[in-house]
Amino acid sequence: MRKPLIVIKLGGSALTDKRRIFTPRIKEIHRAAEQVAQLSKRFSLVVVHGAGSYGHIPVREWRLESGLSSRRQLKGLAATKSKLLEWEGIFDQIFLDHQIPLIPFLASDFVVTRKGRIFSADLRPVKNWLSINCVPSTGGDIVSDRNNGFSVLSGDQLSTYLAVQLKASRLIFGTDVDGIFTSDPKHDPHARIIKELTSSTAIHAASRARVSDIPDVTGGMAGKIIEGARAASNGIPVYFVNLTVGNRLANVALNREVVCSKILPS
Ligand code: ADP
Repeated sequence: MRKPLIVIKLGGSALTDKRRIFTPRIKEIHRAAEQVAQLSKRFSLVVVHGAGSYGHIPVREWRLESGLSSRRQLKGLAATKSKLLEWEGIFDQIFLDHQIPLIPFLASDFVVTRKGRIFSADLRPVKNWLSINCVPSTGGDIVSDRNNGFSVLSGDQLSTYLAVQLKASRLIFGTDVDGIFTSDPKHDPHARIIKELTSSTAIHAASRARVSDIPDVTGGMAGKIIEGARAASNGIPVYFVNLTVGNRLANVALNREVVCSKILPS
């Protein structure tokens, strides 16, 4: 029987320093890779990583957020794509160090968006690699867009799409905070974690999640909660967990007691 599939989104807030351009957090990437290696024995896995400071900062610098408006952007577009590839190389090498049979996919090679939302994606190669126990991996990217020339595709939207299309048993979003809070825990000392949400209470929580003051061009925590609610309304339990503490990622996948937030299918 095929092992249950989990889609794991590894957030750029944990894997990179989002305030400093092109700054990976090597220790946190190793921590995630170690847990993914452990989980790959029990589950089929698809890993999606955020672009972190390799994406959000150059996208803002080159004004790529809203797609193509001038030929002058093309130089910045190519430069940003090249930096995203460099990031991919750093991430992949660490996963290889942990003997994970990672198969990297550039989202721009298999996804086309329309006004920023995924319009089509060829998932046949991903399914084939999964069938021989490999771990397909992809990430937030700049992809071709039918209306806007190109668009910035968040790892969050991509994770939800993959979880729904591949009928995942769960979707896990890892970031640098413990879960979904009543407000941004980095700014509000009174913020409380919300342990359990439904798709509809999640939408309310999203409206209270501030777009952080660090560069994020894809909606930050609010965008992530909305994507999570979408997966939950498609019947997939969604977990938000802190990647920078202990083995919480593995523990949440293995159903162990752990600090996290869940959006349950309603
Ligand atoms: P990633 O890059 O890992 O995908 P984001 O930077 O988009 O993650 O979102 C995580 C950040 O969202 C946290 O570092 C936190 O400061 C901020 N945030 C804002 N509002 C909330 C909230 N209500 N609950 C949790 N985190 C929040």
